[in-house]
Amino acid sequence: MMACRLPVQAAGPLRFSLPSVQLRGQQTLGSASTPLARHAVRHAWALSEERLVEVEWEDGGHSQYPFTWLRDNCQCPKCFLASAEARTLLLSDVDINIGIDAVEVTDDSKVSIVWPDKHTSVFDAEWLKKRCFSAAARQALQEDLFLNERYYWDSKLRVPTADFEEVLRDDKAALDWLLALRRVGIVYLKGAPTERGQVARLAERIGYLRLTFYGHTWQVQDKHMANNVAYTSEMLNVHTDYPALHFAPGVQFLHCIMQAAEGGESQVVDGFHMAEQLQREDPEAFRMLTSLRVDYTDKGTDYCDFNLQSKTFTIK
Ligand SMILES: [Zn+2]
Repeated sequence: MMACRLPVQAAGPLRFSLPSVQLRGQQTLGSASTPLARHAVRHAWALSEERLVEVEWEDGGHSQYPFTWLRDNCQCPKCFLASAEARTLLLSDVDINIGIDAVEVTDDSKVSIVWPDKHTSVFDAEWLKKRCFSAAARQALQEDLFLNERYYWDSKLRVPTADFEEVLRDDKAALDWLLALRRVGIVYLKGAPTERGQVARLAERIGYLRLTFYGHTWQVQDKHMANNVAYTSEMLNVHTDYPALHFAPGVQFLHCIMQAAEGGESQVVDGFHMAEQLQREDPEAFRMLTSLRVDYTDKGTDYCDFNLQSKTFTIK
């Protein structure tokens, strides 16, 4: 049993078929985050002793921003390259003990700050609101950035499904698919043509295939002198893929082109659910598996010769 950053412990390469999947339609699909409402600044002033700028919002709420943080995050063209959305201000040019000469709210509800060297920073209200330091605002931003909602599952899971061609054709269907994949970790796409090349079509719909020592894609079938136990007709243990890679692909696509005449069932396990259960039922085992680094080795020849070594936790 293993868990890692992957959303699901999908075995693979493996014999792929999901003959008993029950359809659930939209039931397990996630929802997109709601856009932030418009905000306006009523007042802004400096708290010199605390070295904070306090902002009062039109709705009566307050936010505080450290002087140094504001100077460090100046959005002016000298300090920030808008086209790259990246800072150009050098850390060595930031005075971490900086004071403030003046703070005012502009006519268009922005916060303008004049620094002691007369450099001026102007902050958009929406920009400031999104970066409010309150615990609730931080949590909302984290949810917005990382879509943290998770559904831990066991054998009662009804695997969320989507239509393969619809995902390729329709942006809303693609978004629903990705949100469900993020939330549940596994989605069953139906209706793909039974010929090679579909995995690449799907990957290119949203990004690109990660190259590994198995190539961009590979065929899971019984092979002579197999370099992986997945290339035999034996049953596989539940496992995590690529533990020897320092940066394993985050999602794996498996396409069933030909159903095995006999057997060929796939098993998937929610490693997060198992890790959570283990933490509850056997804290010492959980502590061991999350704190003891284990050596992982993989070597052989496939797309290229490979000899990989990593040292990492069983659960992370
Ligand atoms: Zn600046």
